[in-house]
Amino acid sequence: MGACTNDDEQWSFSSASFVDRRSSKQVYDNVHGNIYLDPLSLKFIDTEQFQRLRDLKQLGLVHMVYPGASHSRFEHSLGVYWLAGEAVHAIKACQGLELGIDRFDMETVKLAGLLHDVGHGPFSHLFEKAILPQILHGSNWSHEDMSVRMIDYIVDEHNIDVDSQRLKKVKEMIFPSKHLSHTCVKDKKFLYDIVANGRNGIDVDKFDYIVRDTRACGMGCNFQFRRLMESMRVIGDEICYRAKDNLTIHKLFSTRADLHRTVYTHAKVKAIDLMLVDALTEADKFLKISSSIQEPAEFWKLDDSIMKTIETSSDHELKESRDLIRRIRRRDLYRVPRYVDNPQAFSTNRFRRPDWLKILCICCCYYYLLLQHTNDLFACNNLLEVWRHCTERRRCGCEQCQDRFDSGKK
Ligand SMILES: [Zn+2]
Repeated sequence: MGACTNDDEQWSFSSASFVDRRSSKQVYDNVHGNIYLDPLSLKFIDTEQFQRLRDLKQLGLVHMVYPGASHSRFEHSLGVYWLAGEAVHAIKACQGLELGIDRFDMETVKLAGLLHDVGHGPFSHLFEKAILPQILHGSNWSHEDMSVRMIDYIVDEHNIDVDSQRLKKVKEMIFPSKHLSHTCVKDKKFLYDIVANGRNGIDVDKFDYIVRDTRACGMGCNFQFRRLMESMRVIGDEICYRAKDNLTIHKLFSTRADLHRTVYTHAKVKAIDLMLVDALTEADKFLKISSSIQEPAEFWKLDDSIMKTIETSSDHELKESRDLIRRIRRRDLYRVPRYVDNPQAFSTNRFRRPDWLKILCICCCYYYLLLQHTNDLFACNNLLEVWRHCTERRRCGCEQCQDRFDSGKK
């Protein structure tokens, strides 16, 4: 490991920052403070394809339940760009000579952070995880693949002068690193763990969205990513952390689990998600939304405004979709189980034989006959999957439900 005195570190940080900042533009981010955008990144940022990220909400429809969660992929991408630079800088400050980190590496990793989500579709993960699979009856389309195609499209469309080797590395870095071991250049492999770490999931993408999402939703966040960034070191070509920071890493994943439980899979969010999936599935027959998913020249025109387009359209063919979106606006939502009466179900990735009938009786005046293979459902998607696996709907016979039914509630 290279020498790392306080003086060296101070000098290295300040001199590099000085050089970068003279030729950079500055923006203020509400999570990280001042962010300095270098000239190469600005060539990508000032394009309509990147600016489109302003119209993609980071958390899809979560803002319908948590009103503050209206932050966009644009600010998240700038955040990941900044943290990617800070991470390489922190490593360089202590091991720069030993590892041979140069300016080219730093700009490449930062660019990968900036562009890692440029291929996301409307409503972010909902598009690839639920909307496309329902429209196409299964789909392996991924936003990472589209990000790669979109990067090439932006370079061609805007005649950006960028080194082909750099571009190749940027595109490799946005895929989870473990999938690249047999294809990518082995030189400085640790650089591929910074934006999307497929080996252990600890990367600056997560650092940014954990802090940004919790803040937007008004949740507390004890996770201190700066503590990890300051002490990360490269050993055996892999980024490592001090053993005494294990609690900080635990907080990273426990906060993420909290976000999944309380925000991403909130029952009302899931209900609204399902309604939008159905609305877009119907609309696709007329609008052919899915026909643009292979072609960046068309895909960049798709964003969250598709919901408003359908809602305000007078086309007869969109009536069913329009009615569903109106129901979302008027809070006439699908009924989805509100909570699970089985904490153990959340203790592992997969359910351990939850009492389905009990869960569903609690939730509403109906219960559902489920298919046989429900034990395989993932915990994080349980409410959605329960709904999806319904084969028949019947009124529940319990006293509480009978009272609700008699009083005219759904
Ligand atoms: Zn991201």
